[in-house]
Amino acid sequence: LPKPLCDTDVFAAATIGEAMLRYQGNSALNQPMLQLVASLAAIQSRAYGMLGSGLPPGSERASPPEHAWLTSVIDSVVAALADQAPNSQGLSEVGQHLANLDFEFLMAAARHEEEAVDRLLTGAAQAGVHCEAATILYVVKTALQPYLAWRFASLPALGEMSAYPPRRDCPACGGKPMMAKHAHEDGRRYLRCGVCGHEWPFPRLLCISCEAGDPSSIEVVYSQDDQGRRLYLCAACRRYFKVSDERMLEGCVYLPLEDIATVQLDELARQQGYVPVADSDLQSRGTGSSN
Ligand SMILES: [Zn+2]
Ligand SMILES: [Zn+2]
Repeated sequence: LPKPLCDTDVFAAATIGEAMLRYQGNSALNQPMLQLVASLAAIQSRAYGMLGSGLPPGSERASPPEHAWLTSVIDSVVAALADQAPNSQGLSEVGQHLANLDFEFLMAAARHEEEAVDRLLTGAAQAGVHCEAATILYVVKTALQPYLAWRFASLPALGEMSAYPPRRDCPACGGKPMMAKHAHEDGRRYLRCGVCGHEWPFPRLLCISCEAGDPSSIEVVYSQDDQGRRLYLCAACRRYFKVSDERMLEGCVYLPLEDIATVQLDELARQQGYVPVADSDLQSRGTGSSN
């Protein structure tokens, strides 16, 4: 078998078609959701390309994009979501509402800054936007991700960075990893940032949440007929993460698609009381409301 040439582009423009072929016909998977994520990646890839080539000057001080860029990407994301859920009436209101907000404020919400997220949701409710909080946040996160990826794109390309010292949070933007993969080329583990999409190497033996390195504290769960997709449960911190292995899957993966293809692993982990690594701060926010 020829080795696949895995895409190092954040939104994996070349990889997705091949990855989608692998999911085709598998009735255990949520096909509409896979289609949606693939469409969103195409929108994000285009939006990223419109931001210009080369590195932004001094990433933290890069100027915001044209307002037209923002409205166009928000409109496209909202349209893709509306295609998927034609009865969700609030979506067009979400688009209109978001397009009038301050760009840096939207950036803060896309980066999961608690105060910005609270203000965003309160503001939307006050403006009479009839839409679930999770959907509003999803639109913001998806629409802003190409800009975040571009703004923080000053790090070495995937594979050129050392796994030591281990970085649990994204070395580009500080976001939390949403999933991991074991790369085709060398089996190395890479984490993908849930905020900006950057991927960076991380030691295979450590928990990606607490860095526990004792193999006995980590339980690996997978099904016999899908051994390329695994759940890692860490007894030390009670968090879990999912890993897709490109060598066992015999192809390149795009982790936001793999995230959909592995929802049954999330279910397994939650049933046993484990918390996802990426949701850790949202989780503690949720439990804080009980007092
Ligand atoms: Zn990041
Ligand atoms: Zn741990």
